[in-house]
Amino acid sequence: MRTALALAVIAAVAGCSRTVNTTKGISAICPVHHVRMEKREVAVMLGYPGPQREILANAMLAGSIRAFSREEAALFPYSKDYYFGGDDIIDENPPKRAVLYVCPECVKAFAEWKLKKGADQPPTPPPARPAGERH
Ligand SMILES: [Zn+2]
Repeated sequence: MRTALALAVIAAVAGCSRTVNTTKGISAICPVHHVRMEKREVAVMLGYPGPQREILANAMLAGSIRAFSREEAALFPYSKDYYFGGDDIIDENPPKRAVLYVCPECVKAFAEWKLKKGADQPPTPPPARPAGERH
């Protein structure tokens, strides 16, 4: 009986702290810069508008969202140190934490790209709220 209760408590705690691991099956070496990337655990960002403002700003700098996606994949694929998890209105138990790779050279390349394209601000995290806060 005591064991069953302990297992139930462990299952409940594990269910509350889901973590998205985006590094599974991916090399820790940046495919563009060939340096070891840092594995980071970050808070999942939820809510609207999320990173849309940054996505639109980058798309305007590149000419289109598709052009930005191409340049990001080719020049700085691991520059993000945040993870956008959607919206907790749709998912009542969204993940709270995410594990991802961040390449220090991608971060530099992205900052330089933005300045070269005419952005007057270095990259900033999206204006979203951390997971766990409700509306
Ligand atoms: Zn890189």
